Amino acid sequence: MAREFIPVSEAKKLINETIIPLLPIKVSLNEAAGLVLAQDIFSISDVPPFNQSSMDGYALNFEGWQKNRSLLIDGITQAGPADSIPLEPQNARRIFTGAAVPSGADTVVMQEKTKVNETKLTLTDQDITAGLHVRIKGSEAKAGELALEKNCILTPGAVGFIAGLGIHELLVFPQPTVSIILTGNELQQPGVPLAHGQVYDSNSFALKAALNQTGIFTVNILSSEDTLETLTSVLSNALQQSDLVLLTGGVSVGDYDFVIRAAEANGIEQIFHKIKQKPGKPIYFGKKGKKYIFGLPGNPGSVMSCFYEYVYPAIGLLNNRKIDLKQIQTPINSAQKKAPGLTHFLKGFYDGYRVHDLKAQESFRLSSFAKANCLIKLEADQTEIKEGQVVEIHMLPSIQ
Ligand code: AMP
Ligand code: MG
Repeated sequence: MAREFIPVSEAKKLINETIIPLLPIKVSLNEAAGLVLAQDIFSISDVPPFNQSSMDGYALNFEGWQKNRSLLIDGITQAGPADSIPLEPQNARRIFTGAAVPSGADTVVMQEKTKVNETKLTLTDQDITAGLHVRIKGSEAKAGELALEKNCILTPGAVGFIAGLGIHELLVFPQPTVSIILTGNELQQPGVPLAHGQVYDSNSFALKAALNQTGIFTVNILSSEDTLETLTSVLSNALQQSDLVLLTGGVSVGDYDFVIRAAEANGIEQIFHKIKQKPGKPIYFGKKGKKYIFGLPGNPGSVMSCFYEYVYPAIGLLNNRKIDLKQIQTPINSAQKKAPGLTHFLKGFYDGYRVHDLKAQESFRLSSFAKANCLIKLEADQTEIKEGQVVEIHMLPSIQ
């Protein structure tokens, strides 16, 4: 059932209930960073694959050294493929970090703690223990063992760990493919002089940058003039190409606002239209099969607030990262007054101690967003907020 003019909490709940993660796909390890692992990873072999020296020095047999104290250096083993000649107990072998410890040897002494006289090795520091400086075969991961569990985020460290297991392909939850549709006959691209009545398109730039922050770099940008026929066909085209379609503008009640009708014409199921909030009241959300459509308002400030509050977590549901803005309770620097009924999202700057409301909160203005690092949430039923009163803020994803 379609809902209209619903509270913020209900809109978030509906998005949560509606979106199901994209199907996992197999990718090469090089393409996996930042995505969510969709399978358990089992080690295919022992890591390290052999007893490995963790120092530059000499490999020896601990018992043999205890008996002999002075050992005969019988050769050299460097890192890399090499014949494995067993070590006799009365001998030592020159060895380097990463090299296979020969069979017969169980201990490595650092070269700094040794004295060599031609081929005779003695230790200057006798305080050694059996097994010193040897990374035991399989001590990082054993063949057949669960090495990394499904649903973890593939950080650079995780990618390196998987490579170290010798695995080069894996199942991940992919990023959604995204199209942005700009509506509005008045839009002009930056860099081109404006005719009277035109404004520059901010939305595609801001949205693309925000999508980039979530790791989505391929974004299909389309635009439509304000006619039902054109928007219906551009939306149909976008639905074929994308898992997620973001429209901006044309979602309100003006004579040239065609998003709702174009969505209907494309057989999109409306999940909700309009939220009791400011800015971004006219936002629309719908789905068609496993494709999801947000009709964002046109005003750039509303677009950004709606993106962070609704689209950002929706992307986290699609790619299974389950991301959402971090919430903090903090005092506000100045008193606020508002009418009851709508939840307000103000552009704010959180300095680590308190939040400052920024100038230029109107939804057509982005100068406040340019300086904001959070949104301040004033609850629907609140009318007066005192200076120093604790409010909820939602941190915007950081670019660092
Ligand atoms: P609408 O909802 O289509 O009536 O648009 C609301 C306001 O947002 C109007 O002032 C539009 O000119 C403006 N607007 C729509 N799209 C963009 C855009 N891509 N960049 C900047 N402003 C826009
Ligand atoms: Mg418009």
